[in-house]
Amino acid sequence: MELLEALKTYFGYDSFRPGQEAVVSALCSGRDVAAVMPTGAGKSLCFQLPALLLEGITLVVSPLISLMRDQVAALVQAGIPAAFFNSALTERQYALALERARAGRYKLIYVAPERLGTERFLDFALHAEIALLAVDEAHCVSQWGQDFRPHYLEIPDFAARLPRRPVVGAFTATATQAVRRDMRELLQLRDPYEIVTGFDRPNLFFAVRHGREQDKRAWLLEFVKRHGEDSGIVYCATRKKVEEVCALLKAEGVPAGRYHAGLEQEERGRSQEDFLWDRIRVMVATNAFGMGIDKSDVRYVVHYNMPKDMESYYQEAGRAGRDGEKAECVLLYSSADEQTARFLIQQDRENEALDEAQLEQVRRRDYTRLRRMSGYCHTGDCLRRYLLEYFGETPPGRCGSCGNCLEQQEAVDVTAQAAAILRC
Ligand code: ADP
Ligand code: MG
Repeated sequence: MELLEALKTYFGYDSFRPGQEAVVSALCSGRDVAAVMPTGAGKSLCFQLPALLLEGITLVVSPLISLMRDQVAALVQAGIPAAFFNSALTERQYALALERARAGRYKLIYVAPERLGTERFLDFALHAEIALLAVDEAHCVSQWGQDFRPHYLEIPDFAARLPRRPVVGAFTATATQAVRRDMRELLQLRDPYEIVTGFDRPNLFFAVRHGREQDKRAWLLEFVKRHGEDSGIVYCATRKKVEEVCALLKAEGVPAGRYHAGLEQEERGRSQEDFLWDRIRVMVATNAFGMGIDKSDVRYVVHYNMPKDMESYYQEAGRAGRDGEKAECVLLYSSADEQTARFLIQQDRENEALDEAQLEQVRRRDYTRLRRMSGYCHTGDCLRRYLLEYFGETPPGRCGSCGNCLEQQEAVDVTAQAAAILRC
């Protein structure tokens, strides 16, 4: 069946999104794939469609129970036989599901990474015809990513034990060069078709401004006032700074709210609601704000301090302009931000389970990422290009429309004017 026809038949979509067709085609022809596509790009379809076209079963390794449940529910609703094997199943349900799987009842089986090496699952898998092994959220294999899951490292051994090694597809939205290398190497992909798509957000304007604390304050006030009724977010590195900046804005009559992990659940909920319903215009927040909020008309995201890494920056800045209309992302940099970021890295207690040597390794990794972030604040080159290259894309050239590009253009214009004057 032609791919487009299959897309329509099984999923009811009229066209492929960028990158999907190439990935589906590679997997169907038996080639491994490493695909990096931003959230919402439609990665699931890239393995779900081949699952239906290939003979045999597709296993999908996925790290989260909720993700598995949602995807399987959607598939079943579309009439596609799918199931998940994870700890949400009772013993009886698992036994029944395995029995059905053995009888060839499922085309797609979602499985938690912890299950791959278990005797019961192997007993099934070693006697099944597994055509495709899709690794979703594949950055979990890398210690350079944000959600390292040690069980992901066992995936290639599992694949190698099967009677016939399946085609392997790895999918993620986070892809720095280091994570991509890990994906390729640690998952032991064979000559994979690699694709990186669509990180660019053409409607976002990026700029960096340097200044000391008093400059930042003055700039922010002017900026927020100029934006009048627009909704915007101001991210600060610490709770204390959130309090200060929020008070500053309020003192000037700007309807601002605050959000950080030190506030009561109730106040946080109220702030978020007020922002969503436009009762406050500016949300001043730490990085605790944003997970799962979906306000499409945010016209600007100002970073009052430099974040710790580019992943955080792009994710936070990316909350601007979801509606596709123009929006601004401005980072206010001062050298004091470097010290704050270093302090936050030193204080990071997220990895309590790690021993001292591992902690040291994590910190070194964090410092490397901080250096790249700092590089963004100091480059005179195109900011959009710097961002996209960080995420593994190769943009054609300068964007011509970020803060740095415009500044350079102005310099050129001034020089041309001066030259014209001298010629008279
Ligand atoms: P990702 O895993 O890349 O974050 P998903 O696979 O969850 O993205 O897909 C995001 C949304 O896009 C889903 O609602 C999905 O149904 C939809 N989608 C995927 N492919 C297409 C397509 N070709 N046409 C229209 N909608 C699509
Ligand atoms: Mg996904």
